Amino acid sequence: MKANILSELEPLGHSIPDLEILTDQSSAKFRTFAERWSDIDRKTPAAILLPTTEEQIQKVVQWASETTVPFVAKSGGHSTWSTIDETGVIVDLSNYSGIEVDVEAHTATLKGSIVAKQVAVALAEHGLFTALGNGNPVGAIPYFLGGGASVVTSITGYGSDQILSARMIDANGTLVEVTETKEPDLLYALRGAGQFFGVETELTVKTYPFAKLGNEEGLIWTGIFMFPVHRADEVCSSMQVLMDDSSQATAGLLMLMAPPPARNPMIAVAARYTGNPDDAQNAYKALYDLKPVFAKGAAIPLHCVADGRDAFNAHGGFKDFGVVGLPRFDKAAFLEVVEVWKDLITNCPDAIDTSFNFQWDSRLAKAPGFESANSLHDIRFWLNNFIWYRDPTSRERVDAANKKSIEIMRGPDETEYVDFVNGTRSGPIELRFRNEHRLAKLRALKKKWDPRGVFTRELID
Ligand SMILES: Cc1cc2nc3c(=O)[nH]c(=O)nc-3n(C[C@H](O)[C@H](O)[C@H](O)COP(=O)(O)OP(=O)(O)OC[C@H]3O[C@@H](n4cnc5c(N)ncnc54)[C@H](O)[C@@H]3O)c2cc1C
Repeated sequence: MKANILSELEPLGHSIPDLEILTDQSSAKFRTFAERWSDIDRKTPAAILLPTTEEQIQKVVQWASETTVPFVAKSGGHSTWSTIDETGVIVDLSNYSGIEVDVEAHTATLKGSIVAKQVAVALAEHGLFTALGNGNPVGAIPYFLGGGASVVTSITGYGSDQILSARMIDANGTLVEVTETKEPDLLYALRGAGQFFGVETELTVKTYPFAKLGNEEGLIWTGIFMFPVHRADEVCSSMQVLMDDSSQATAGLLMLMAPPPARNPMIAVAARYTGNPDDAQNAYKALYDLKPVFAKGAAIPLHCVADGRDAFNAHGGFKDFGVVGLPRFDKAAFLEVVEVWKDLITNCPDAIDTSFNFQWDSRLAKAPGFESANSLHDIRFWLNNFIWYRDPTSRERVDAANKKSIEIMRGPDETEYVDFVNGTRSGPIELRFRNEHRLAKLRALKKKWDPRGVFTRELID
C-alpha cells in the first residue's frame, strides 16, 4: 500500500515543488513529526506532508480527495484518535500557524496549528482572554471545534461558543467561508462537531477584556489542598457542599493522586476561583478548616493557569483520558472509585502517575444564545481521569480500572450519560451530540458536506 501512495505523491510533489513530504520512516525528522501525545495505538503513516500556506493545504486536500488517499490533519497532535497507518498520510499543519488580534472588535483570528498557550499569551498582551483549555500545547483550532471545556466556561461559555467564523477546506478541496450569513448551518456544525466537516485553516473567535474575570489584572486564583487518602470521606463531604454553592465561583478537580517524591496516595483539591482573588480564602474556608497537610494558593495570570504540566503535556508515553459528564457529585460512588484507584496503583505500579479525578464548576456554562452542535451546556460535573502508564502490557488493567470507575460514577440511569467530544470518539454518538433533532441536523449536514467520510465516518455510520 505504501508504494501506491508514494507513486500517488509524485504528481503532488510536481504541482507544489516546495511542499515538504517526509517518506523515510527511519529518519529522525520523520520520527519527530510522527510523535503524538499518546503512544497508545500510535501508527506510522506512509508519509507526512508539511504545507506552509493555506493554498498548499487546499491543494493537498484536493489531491487527497481526487486520489482517495486517506489522511488526517494534525495541529497539536494531542488527540488520541487521529493516528493513521501506512494506508494513509498525515497533513501536518505545524509549519502554518499564526494569530491576528483585533483589539477594537474583541476578536482573534487563529491560523493552522497555533496552540492554546500561544493564543493565551498573544491575547494577554492586549489585556484580553478567551475560553481556552488546560493543555498549553493542544491545537487551539481543534480544541474550539470539539466543544472546548475551559477554565472560564461559566464566564464565557464553551470554546465552541466563541467561534464567529471560519475558513474551511471541504471534502472536495474547496475553500469555504463559513459565517453567520454565508453558511449558518455549517457554522452550527463547526461549533462542537467541526473536526468532522473539513480542515479549518482559520477560526475567528470572540475575546474578552480582563475585567470580565472580576479583576483588571487578568488574574485567576488557583490553589492546591492535599490530604492523605484515608481522609477521603470528610474531604468529599465538604466538597459536596462547596461544589453546589453557586454563590461562590469555585471550580477545579478533586484528585486521587500519588505525587513524587513520596508517592503516598493522596486526595487533593486543585482549586480555582474567579473574581476578586482576595475572596478565594473565604470560598475555600471549608477546606482550610479541614487542616490539609499542605495548602497553597495564589492569584496568577490567566494565561499561566495551565503551566507546570510539561511532562504530562509532552508527546510520547502511554497516556489517555477517561472523561464523562455527570449530573451530580455522588459521594458514595466517588468513595468506591477511591478503592478502584488504590487497587490500580498498588497492583500496577507503573501506572502510579494515573490520577482519577472529579471535575466541578459551581456555575453552569454561560448560555451562548444560539443553538449549535455543542450539547454540554447543562453539565458542570465530570469524571476526568488522567491515565498514564509506562509498561504497554498494563493497558488491560488500566483500561479495566478506568471503565469500572466510569460505571460506578454513572450509575444505572442511562438517560443521564454524557460523553465529551474533545475526550473520546468511542461510545454511542448520541452521548456526544445529545437530542435527536441535533443529531439529525448534524447527520444531514455531514451528508451534504462530506458524504464520502473524508473527515471520518462519524455522523455517517
Ligand atoms: C494535555 C491535554 C489537555 C487537554 N485539555 C483540554 C481542555 O482543557 N479542554 C478541552 O476541551 N479539551 C482538552 N483536551 C483535548 C483536546 O482539546 C483535543 O484532544 C483536541 O482535539 C486536540 O487537538 P490537537 O490539535 O492537539 O490534536 P490533533 O490530534 O492534531 O487534532 C485533533 C483532531 O482534530 C483534527 N484536526 C487537526 N487540525 C485540524 C484543523 N485545522 N481543522 C480540522 N480538524 C483538524 C485532527 O485530525 C484530529 O482529529 C486536552 C488534551 C490533552 C492531551
